[in-house]
Amino acid sequence: MKFAIFGDIHANLEALQAVIADSQDQGCSSYVCLGDIVGYAANPAECMEIVREMNCPVVRGNHDEGAASTSLLEELNPLAQRALLWTREQLTEDQRQWLRELKLVRQVRDFTIVHATLDSPGAWGYVTNRFDAMASFSYQFTQVCFYGHTHVPRVFEKDDTVRGARGDQVQLQRGVKYFVNVGSVGQPRDGDWRAAYAIYDVPAQTITIRRVEYDLPATQGKILDAGLPTLLAERLSLGK
Ligand code: ZN
Repeated sequence: MKFAIFGDIHANLEALQAVIADSQDQGCSSYVCLGDIVGYAANPAECMEIVREMNCPVVRGNHDEGAASTSLLEELNPLAQRALLWTREQLTEDQRQWLRELKLVRQVRDFTIVHATLDSPGAWGYVTNRFDAMASFSYQFTQVCFYGHTHVPRVFEKDDTVRGARGDQVQLQRGVKYFVNVGSVGQPRDGDWRAAYAIYDVPAQTITIRRVEYDLPATQGKILDAGLPTLLAERLSLGK
C-alpha cells in the first residue's frame, strides 16, 4: 500500500492535477492532505472540490482557517491577506463550513498528520530546524508524522538525538521517529519550482519526496487574470 501525502496546494489546480497523475503512475492507492488547500492562486473552489471528492483524511491549515473565518487577517503578511480576502469570495458557505470543521491533528493508520507543529498546532509556528522539530517530537506518539507549512521538504529523525536526514528518500528504521515535511504542491519555497509531495510505501517502509512539473504559465496567467498580486505569479517560477 502506497500513500500519496500532499499539502500546501494553495489553489494551484495545475500543480494539484499533476501531483495526482504522478501519484497514480507511482501506484498510490490512498491520499492524505496536510492542509492549506486554498490561498494565493486562482482556483480555490476547484482544488477544494478535488480534495473533498478524494474523501481522504485532511487537516486544517492556516490559510484554510483564514479563508473560512470572518476576521480581518491582520496577522498575515499583506500578500496572503489580499489573496485570502479574494479567496473568501470564491467559496460557498458550504465550502467555508467544511474548512472550519477540519481537525488540526489526526492519526491515520499508524502515522500522524498536522499542518504546522505538534506542540502547538493552532499557533501556526514553523518547524525549520532541529530545535523546532524537538518540540514537536515531544508530542509525537507514532513513529512517523507528516507536516507542511514551511513549503520546504525536509526529514527530521530522532533516536538519542534529533537531526536532519539527507536525500529524497528515507528507509524507516526501528527505534527511530520521523517528522517529515512533504513540501508544497502549489507554491514550493526551496528554490525548485516543481510541485512537491511524498509517497509513503508501507510494505517497503520508505518515504520518498517526489517533484513534478506542471503547466506553470497556465497557473500564472490565471493569477494575473484574477487580479491577484503579480508577485504571487512571479514567485512560482522561482520556487520561493
Ligand atoms: Zn501554506
